[in-house]
Amino acid sequence: MNCSEALSMVSPYVRRELSMQDTEDFLNHIEECQSCRDELETYFIVYKAIENLDAETETDTAMNFKTLLDQDLKHQRHRIILWRVRRILLILGILASIALIAFGTILLLT
Ligand SMILES: [Zn+2]
Repeated sequence: MNCSEALSMVSPYVRRELSMQDTEDFLNHIEECQSCRDELETYFIVYKAIENLDAETETDTAMNFKTLLDQDLKHQRHRIILWRVRRILLILGILASIALIAFGTILLLT
């Protein structure tokens, strides 16, 4: 992924509109590219500030948006790991089903 692609994903990332695969590609780029991470940080801070205004919650002056972003990035990484584990389990389940069907067919034919 190049910077242009990554920058086009900043807004969809913050709004949770990216697929898991796109999120993973985006995070991989952000971890390597300080320039795009800075863009994400800026957008994230503005988005969260507006979200807080909309929710009419008291804005905690001590709230550190950078910490929030770090937590968010960790949370997304965790989601990607769970997504990958689920996919692997699904594939293993499908393979086990195919093996059982094949085994059952062989038993029926013999
Ligand atoms: Zn970049």
